[in-house]
Amino acid sequence: MIVPARRGRAFRLSEGECIKVVNTHGSQVVDAWALAPPELREHMSMPHTRAGLESLRVRVGDHLYSERRRPILTLVEDTSPGVHDMLFPACDPARYEQLGHEGRHDNCRENFHAALAELGLERPAVPSPLNLFMNVSFEGGELRLLPSVSGPGDHVVLRAERDVVVVLSACPQDMVPINGPAMVPRDVEVELQSAESTGGDGLAR
Ligand SMILES: [Zn+2]
Repeated sequence: MIVPARRGRAFRLSEGECIKVVNTHGSQVVDAWALAPPELREHMSMPHTRAGLESLRVRVGDHLYSERRRPILTLVEDTSPGVHDMLFPACDPARYEQLGHEGRHDNCRENFHAALAELGLERPAVPSPLNLFMNVSFEGGELRLLPSVSGPGDHVVLRAERDVVVVLSACPQDMVPINGPAMVPRDVEVELQSAESTGGDGLAR
């Protein structure tokens, strides 16, 4: 399956299933959310994940936590250099306006709503996403948005620790170089892996 450049898609996963996100062309940032059905109120929370991991980085084997401090996803594979962002909110219309864009600009916030709507779901509040492949340096307390260091074909695999809806947005940011110096948003590939095909431990066989 494809998440087209600048667009979002939502996927239902049962507990134990995995979702593989392939950075097909490299350097594409993918905003990721996980929400617990049916109400979608409990969600993957970056503040609680940072606290749970006592880290600003997520590594293979780490859980991602909900706002109730329960594991909701686990990062089970990562062939990228492991640089993902847990600090920045999803881009939204105000962000592009702030950057000087005039008129409508695609954005991850609206992609989140549109992707859920395709599954007949709705969630007014947009949690802060896990920004896969997004390179933010935080040396000396300063945050700098840098081009992704991910390469073509790099992938991550996230395992559902319970039934979840995962929303992905191929970030349409083309005004700062997070999606590479060329600032051209690209498609990414997605594959769902059943609990059986992953042997139950999330490791692909
Ligand atoms: Zn975005």
